[in-house]
Amino acid sequence: MSNLYFPICGLFCIILIVIMYFSHKRIDSKETKIYGIMIISSLIDTILVFIIISFGVLGITPINFLKLLNKIDFIHYIIWPGLMFLYIYYVSNLNNKNVNEKYNLIKNIVIIFDILCILIEFILPVEIIYNNDIMGVVGISTIFVYFVVLVYIIGTIIVFLCHVRREFNKKYIPFIFLLFFLVLALIVRAINPTLIIIPTIIDFINLIMYFTIENPDVKMIEQLNIARDQAEKANNAKTEFLSNMSHEIRTPLNAIDGFSQLILEEKNIDTIKDEARDIMAASQNLLEIVNGILDISKIEANKLEIINVEYEPAKVFDELIKLTKARIGEKPLEFKVNIAKDLPEYLNGDYVRLKQIVLNLLTNAVKYTKNGSITLNVDIVKKDNICRLIISVKDTGIGIKKDNLDKIFTKFERLDLEKNITIEGTGLGLAITKKLVELMHGKIVVDSIYGKGSNFTVAIDQMIVNKVKTIKEVKEEKPTKQVNLKGKKVLIVDDNLINLKVASRLLLSYKIETEEVSSGFDCLKNIKDGKKYDLILMDDMMPKMSGVETFKKLQEIDGFDTPVIALTANAIAGMKENYLKQGFNDYISKPIDKKELERVLTTYLNAKK
Ligand code: ADP
Repeated sequence: MSNLYFPICGLFCIILIVIMYFSHKRIDSKETKIYGIMIISSLIDTILVFIIISFGVLGITPINFLKLLNKIDFIHYIIWPGLMFLYIYYVSNLNNKNVNEKYNLIKNIVIIFDILCILIEFILPVEIIYNNDIMGVVGISTIFVYFVVLVYIIGTIIVFLCHVRREFNKKYIPFIFLLFFLVLALIVRAINPTLIIIPTIIDFINLIMYFTIENPDVKMIEQLNIARDQAEKANNAKTEFLSNMSHEIRTPLNAIDGFSQLILEEKNIDTIKDEARDIMAASQNLLEIVNGILDISKIEANKLEIINVEYEPAKVFDELIKLTKARIGEKPLEFKVNIAKDLPEYLNGDYVRLKQIVLNLLTNAVKYTKNGSITLNVDIVKKDNICRLIISVKDTGIGIKKDNLDKIFTKFERLDLEKNITIEGTGLGLAITKKLVELMHGKIVVDSIYGKGSNFTVAIDQMIVNKVKTIKEVKEEKPTKQVNLKGKKVLIVDDNLINLKVASRLLLSYKIETEEVSSGFDCLKNIKDGKKYDLILMDDMMPKMSGVETFKKLQEIDGFDTPVIALTANAIAGMKENYLKQGFNDYISKPIDKKELERVLTTYLNAKK
């Protein structure tokens, strides 16, 4: 009877765990699933062992039946350590990027190994012995089971030792207990094979696991803590981003505001022109910041598209060289350019994004180099109709520390701030650059020596277009003269007086007659009063009646056929498509790009009579 004490304890223990575990809401993870199987397997085995021992206690000895039950008991000894091994393997590799792939491979190996061992186990003979009324099991199948357990324990020890040096995971605790108790149990069983305590020990380990790591409540709290940490991190990143942006936006705003005040007081026309140019440069800078934010928002919404068109690469590099020279300005920097002589005349690709990539690298080179030189190298490798552009931008600037090389392509990451603090930047440029290069199926690498300089290399494939320059295209290279749209009348609708003034002033330069209204209601009134316009420029975000609402009401007016262009600061990803979908004829974003305005004006005003 005393031989039943251990199994009875084990049975109570495992029934309690199974009830508590499965009655709780659980987190759906691999570890939880493994643990679920572990306790179910233990429950079945503990009941089995209880029956086996009870037979002995009651003096019933159906040998073949008992042999079968013992074989099933041994299956548990094969499955449970395997599950423990998988559990330890999984939790040890949680920080590994390919954890799921690796785990699935190991899981399959374990399953195959278990099936093989179970088959062998069934073939091998088992012997039942009796010592008074106490039953014991001996024979080669027992030795084989010990061997399998040993294999799993050694495997688990190896995984444990490989990872414990790097980081001690509290999920190892039950395993350490298991090792201790198993060694103890094996010694006891070797001395007295009739003492069946292993299932009880396994139940005890399950219990330790439940109270230390696999308790659903503990797991929920863990998950909540992780979620809270992530939310805090996201919140901090947002705060940091806002303060960073506020600083970045204030810098050009300060220039715009300061120079505007000076212009008001200044009488000398040359000085006024100079200051106006500085205002334009600061506005350009401001626009670049806003565009950077827009690009990141588009990238994150997966809306950034690569638009491939035919272009002349030589022209693109010419523009880049001009822009870089302007950015170098008075800085004592030598700008060296080497462009492959056999650069094809025409390529097909997204030259706007290509320009943005190289300009980002050149701008950084100028920003982070005090003196010395900047070199732009453009090499090509042609294969069939593909031309690989290998563009490198090398500088003799401050360089990047080795530890920071991985981080520079992360958004909002500005490094080495003790050196960079006076250099303007948002930490968005390289994140956008890398994403653009990837979208164009290219590669970007950086090589840098701290204190000596950096070298960024980009490789992008573009299609070669085989054609000869036409006379028309040569003609197009000549600067176009100012467009004259005298006699045309445009209605501008905007609630902001300054915006009305800017738009009206820009239209005046094309000799266009303008009328300005500050609400959708006034716009509707003018049209209903029978006033005629050749074009309407419509802001969207206006109080009481938005531009879209005004537009819808305009469409309901009989005979209304004036083209309406959305002229709005609402420029985030997908907005243009959205306005066109609403029925607007075209879209211009604020601040108004003169080229865009001219495109729209010539399209819609020249097209009419
Ligand atoms: P930022 O707006 O700060 O220039 P980027 O994303 O373009 O943002 O660059 C991220 C960081 O990488 C910079 O803050 C700077 O520390 C580092 N970096 C980029 N280019 C260079 C370079 N040519 N030389 C040295 N450091 C650079």
